[in-house]
Amino acid sequence: MNDDRVTIHGAVETLLAGNGRFTAAAPAHPNQDAARRAETAPAQSPFAVLFGCSDSRLAAEIIFDRGLGDLFVVRTAGHVLGPEVLGSIEYGVSVLGCPLVVVLGHDACGAVAAARAAVQDGTSADGYVRDVIERVTPSVLAARAAGYTEDSDFIAEHIRRTVDLLMDRSRVLAEAVTAGRTAVLGLAYRLADGTVRHVTARGLDESAVPAP
Ligand SMILES: [Zn+2]
Repeated sequence: MNDDRVTIHGAVETLLAGNGRFTAAAPAHPNQDAARRAETAPAQSPFAVLFGCSDSRLAAEIIFDRGLGDLFVVRTAGHVLGPEVLGSIEYGVSVLGCPLVVVLGHDACGAVAAARAAVQDGTSADGYVRDVIERVTPSVLAARAAGYTEDSDFIAEHIRRTVDLLMDRSRVLAEAVTAGRTAVLGLAYRLADGTVRHVTARGLDESAVPAP
């Protein structure tokens, strides 16, 4: 499917179809064989950048039922952003030509929970974990200011703000979206049943994204 340039909608459909197979317990495990390995060895042409939380239960190629050469994956705890993350996403968009950037958060995210505890109780963390928590904190403060109390609302707020931050900080990505070359899609993953919920999008007709 990566022989020709994939459209934005083609990328969204491929991704959501894969998640549908995964949640239906009917994965096809595409592009995971030796032939695909040989085919993609000379060059990669992934159809999406997947920027998600590092949580061990969010294994990208498994939950979207894809294989080698399909997804350019960038993951950090709480999907927090720094220069290396922005550079990696920009590489996927401008060098590899990915038509889709997905921001993938999830329920019961430890980074969001830790940031909520830090705000509520003034707790802190050691080492660079503190840096992760501090980068999630603005989302927690915004969610609290909006009067949210549910975990799902905090998660959605953090996904929305991560998409905003990406668009704000990366001129390369913002220009690709404006030019219609790339879209950004924020999804919330549910650990218990493996489904993804559409939270926000840029450069995409949102009615084209089915809400599971
Ligand atoms: Zn997480």
